[in-house]
Amino acid sequence: MEQQEKEIIFRALQAKNAVPACPRCKGTGHDLVGYNLQPVYDSPRMTPEAPPSVPTVLMLCVTCGNLTQHVLSSIGVQV
Ligand SMILES: [Zn+2]
Repeated sequence: MEQQEKEIIFRALQAKNAVPACPRCKGTGHDLVGYNLQPVYDSPRMTPEAPPSVPTVLMLCVTCGNLTQHVLSSIGVQV
């Protein structure tokens, strides 16, 4: 993930008040570590087809390693 991408996404998260202290350790150091294609299933049963996915960004607490993700379209970011 390029530094410029990180800055755009971090600003988008700040605009949504979505960068609070870590819910686990209360640390305030965060890093955006990459993207995830989160699979989304319509049912709990396995299917032969790959499920659709939602693009997300992963935010890491640099103190305790707690990892959270945000759906990119919900924060107004297109990659
Ligand atoms: Zn933490």
